[in-house]
Amino acid sequence: MAEVTVKQLADTVGRSVDVLLAQMRDAGLSHKAEGDVVSDIEKQQLLAHLKRTHGEQAGEPKKITLQRKTVSTLKTNVVAGKAKTVNVEVRKTRTYVKRSLLEEQEEQAREAAEAARKAQEEAEQQAEAARQAAIEAERRAIEDARIAAAEEEARKAAEEARRQLGGEQKDARKLSVPKIDIKRHETPEERARREEESARERAADEARRKQEEVHRKEAEEKARQKTLEQARRIAEELAGRKDDAPSAADTPLARGLVGKAYEDSFDREDREIKRGGGTPARGAKKGPKKREEQNFRPVQRTLTSALSRQHGFEKPVEKQVYEVTIGESIVVSDLAQKMAKKSREIIRVLMKMGEVVTENQRIDQATAALVVEELGHTAKLVSDTALEDSLMDSLVHHGEATTRAPVVTIMGHVDHGKTSLLDYIRRAKVAAGEAGGITQHIGAYHVETPRGMITFLDTPGHAAFTAMRARGAKATDIVVLVVAADDGVMPQTAEAIDHARASGVPLIVAMNKIDKESVDVDRVLSELSAKQVVCEEWGGDVQVVKVSAKTGQGIDELLEAILIQAELLELTAVSDGPAQGVVIESRIDKGRGAVATLLVQKGTLKKGDLVLAGTLYGRARALVDETGKLVKSVGPSMPVEILGLPDAPGAGDEFLVVADERKAREVAEFRVARDRQLRMDMQQASKLENLFANMGKAEAASVNIILKTDVRGSLEALMAALNDLSTDEVRVKIVSSGVGAITESDVTLAESTGSVVLGFNVRADGAARSKCQNDGIDLRYYSIIYELIDDVKAAMSGLLSPERRENIVGIAEVREVFHSSKFGAAAGCMVLEGSLFRNKPIRVLREDVVVFQGELESLRRFKEDVAEVRHGMECGLAVKGYKDIKAGDKIEVYEVQIIKRSL
Ligand code: GDP
Ligand code: MG
Repeated sequence: MAEVTVKQLADTVGRSVDVLLAQMRDAGLSHKAEGDVVSDIEKQQLLAHLKRTHGEQAGEPKKITLQRKTVSTLKTNVVAGKAKTVNVEVRKTRTYVKRSLLEEQEEQAREAAEAARKAQEEAEQQAEAARQAAIEAERRAIEDARIAAAEEEARKAAEEARRQLGGEQKDARKLSVPKIDIKRHETPEERARREEESARERAADEARRKQEEVHRKEAEEKARQKTLEQARRIAEELAGRKDDAPSAADTPLARGLVGKAYEDSFDREDREIKRGGGTPARGAKKGPKKREEQNFRPVQRTLTSALSRQHGFEKPVEKQVYEVTIGESIVVSDLAQKMAKKSREIIRVLMKMGEVVTENQRIDQATAALVVEELGHTAKLVSDTALEDSLMDSLVHHGEATTRAPVVTIMGHVDHGKTSLLDYIRRAKVAAGEAGGITQHIGAYHVETPRGMITFLDTPGHAAFTAMRARGAKATDIVVLVVAADDGVMPQTAEAIDHARASGVPLIVAMNKIDKESVDVDRVLSELSAKQVVCEEWGGDVQVVKVSAKTGQGIDELLEAILIQAELLELTAVSDGPAQGVVIESRIDKGRGAVATLLVQKGTLKKGDLVLAGTLYGRARALVDETGKLVKSVGPSMPVEILGLPDAPGAGDEFLVVADERKAREVAEFRVARDRQLRMDMQQASKLENLFANMGKAEAASVNIILKTDVRGSLEALMAALNDLSTDEVRVKIVSSGVGAITESDVTLAESTGSVVLGFNVRADGAARSKCQNDGIDLRYYSIIYELIDDVKAAMSGLLSPERRENIVGIAEVREVFHSSKFGAAAGCMVLEGSLFRNKPIRVLREDVVVFQGELESLRRFKEDVAEVRHGMECGLAVKGYKDIKAGDKIEVYEVQIIKRSL
């Protein structure tokens, strides 16, 4: 296209119309609106202007950017007298600009431009000379040809004369060989003819030579033009100056442009023909024209590309500067892609900064920003939750905040009466007013008291509470801690206290089973105060209410205490506007599909609202309250069941009502992607080796452990020892613990909580083992307490000692036991996995629990002592110092491998 509008041009060059117009104005063009037409000449003018300005910029000095990272340690004394160490990492970036370099570069550019221009002029002179020579040669060739023609004429005339002259000699000449004849008897006429002939031949030769010369010169000139064009382009690129170049029409490129202009007009003509296709005559012309046009195409393309290069719009001389959006973290390869670079280059830059990463590794926002700046682009830092935040921002709640009911979670040690207490309250307070008695269980209910309403979250155990806390959702206002008056503070009691404290939720103690005779109130109170839970009578601020879930004693006082606490908290919420809250529970119902219990925290949830919960969204087809009644809407602090989500959302997921379905989908999709990434990161993080590496990040500042042991005694000992390891910086969190073999559900829990699974004298069953392998869960067996403790300690401090890993090399099952006088008990075994080795340490397992550990007394096959028995074979063995072996026991042979750790 020869002519385009400003808008089109702006689109082609990827600049805004305004910017382009400003540039055009600077270039002295009169364009004002985006619809104005820009001609080729004007384009050239703009181009010249841009080149000039870019030329100025091209002289920009090279900058040197230096990065430095220093890590220092700060020690502070905290109140408890414990020294706290803080690692301080300082990152500095400094850019130096060299002045002399600037001048040097300018000088170089000028010289290069000068040289290129000289080369071009020279080349043009040569080309001119060649052209002159060619013209001269042609002229001479024509001249020669004319002479030759004249000579031919003369020759013909002479021949005619000769024929007339020697008619009588004709016969004689016929008999003789003419040449010899000529030589022997050369007549004047014959000589004239010979000379004439040789002259003609010479002329023809000369003409041919001249012709060849012309061809050669033409080819040479073509080649020279090509070089010329290249030289010119280089010169321009170097100097960024086009206006100094020789007058445009003279240059070969300009000739190319003329060609282009011709083709443009051709193009236009063709288009006109197409448009005017109504007339048959023109339509008929279309065929051959089209073919012709196709023949032209390649030429045109090269010319166009030459032109675009010339223009410098599509491929500017100046480097493209990208604005790179960086979330809270970014994978190296993604970062590379955003800057149109290879991952390798990014890794190299990071390496220079002292960070060794791989392509698929995540780097934090600050580091990524440094890389972006180093590569000369600009970084735009955004929050990962920008998309969600924008959704939240759209949820403005107008109107006055009014008092809302407190949301209460009941926690406490197992068997201290949580369920009984919840059931009693429900029976007494909810069911009392309902004809149908106890209603369905939806995971939450509310009670009305003369002094106000209370909502109880009725989710079993601490799971929901912690799950919600882990997701950052705060559903609970008050924790009621149930402590059995006859049992006192137990591990889970302490855990509940920790959870409540960590989330800043006030506690009320319900001292349950007060009806029992064996109660010791003071002991329980003192145990509580040892955990910094001090009752009001003792000068503390925690309300302790003595209750009985059996007799109902003290229940009203408990509700009263809750309401007093709620008043202190001044709980309010706006009830107008779209609803927002937390998913308490969810399940898939056979008839109704996904059923989710939601706790509305703000606004009002109405039937038909579009609900976005975690990664799911759908319309709330029906709202069901805790008594099974269909309701139209629910306000703050109220639990409600909704139908209509495509799947069961996770307990603890936040939900909100969205006006725009497209937004809902966007956020849901974003969350799905983020969850996937998180899961992958989690798998990485759950390896014990990686724990330290991840500790710099706030959320990983705990070592999560799932602990299974052979007996309760060792479990308690280990738990106590592990809990004592917790420091201010790193917490040891025993996510789950128990006695017995490691099961699949332990591994599932490990996966979801990013825990390592530690087995003390117990083994994983088959399903658990394969799940560990598939999901990359770190599973470790120990038989010495201090080794387990040491490993965890090492993981916490990051000083991983050489790893002492046990590899199980063979497992055999005891089929029969014989009692011999020599060995005591000899076992007939079948090797199930690997091989048994006579000289390697062994353990005897009963139901996946280690019952003995030691070595073999003997290993035999058919009465022969052997060193090894392979998989699938039978053998007889005796265990040194162990007579108690039984059929069904397993013999595990292992070896200890020392692996040097590297982080
Ligand atoms: P949870 O594990 O904390 O949910 O405890 P449960 O509610 O299941 O109660 C465990 C046992 O304690 C049950 O056998 C209850 O009957 C009993 N229990 C609960 N509350 C009381 C109480 O106030 N008094 C008496 N005597 N027994 C109670
Ligand atoms: Mg219970």
